[in-house]
Amino acid sequence: MNKINIHQKEFEIFLENETICKRTRLMGIQLNVDYEGQCPIFIGVLNGSFLFMADLLKEVEVDCEVGFIRVASYQGTASSGEIKETFGLPENLGGKDVIIVEDIVDTGLTLQYILEKVNAQNPASINVCSLLFKPAALLSPIKELTYVGFEIPNEFVVGYGLDYDGLGRNLKDIYRAI
Ligand code: 5GP
Repeated sequence: MNKINIHQKEFEIFLENETICKRTRLMGIQLNVDYEGQCPIFIGVLNGSFLFMADLLKEVEVDCEVGFIRVASYQGTASSGEIKETFGLPENLGGKDVIIVEDIVDTGLTLQYILEKVNAQNPASINVCSLLFKPAALLSPIKELTYVGFEIPNEFVVGYGLDYDGLGRNLKDIYRAI
């Protein structure tokens, strides 16, 4: 399918599943080299990362732990703006090598928030592995963003875990809004 409709909005194919899987395989190989002899903990950020996390972890051969967190954003009524809350962050990250697995880094605000929470537990190291990254949307540099699948333009994408108003997460390819 080259074009699809979700909630009456038209999307066109952007990254086919085969392309995503090839890139994911390479990212797994890189992680196996970089973490050889270590036992990192992969923490997937829900909901969007669930498919990428599953495919990536199948390529990882070093001993590792696996966990998930969920981040909720709320538009605050106060002038402070956005308030976020993290659910389920493991509480035993002290001294561990942490790898945060994201579907997409856009402004980077969500990731900054997660990194603060993880850093507070004094891990040995933190790196971020994101399938997609929109450099043009990033508000301030994130030094932990070490592994990026695809740098993409500042456009809205859907599929392979990413939703449009609740739909589209189950699509195996990634589409962009027309
Ligand atoms: P950030 O905090 O980096 O601006 O945004 C992170 C979150 O916004 C992502 O985890 C994702 O849920 C959502 N997001 C950002 N860009 C897109 C996009 O192009 N498509 C979809 N479906 N979600 C996006």
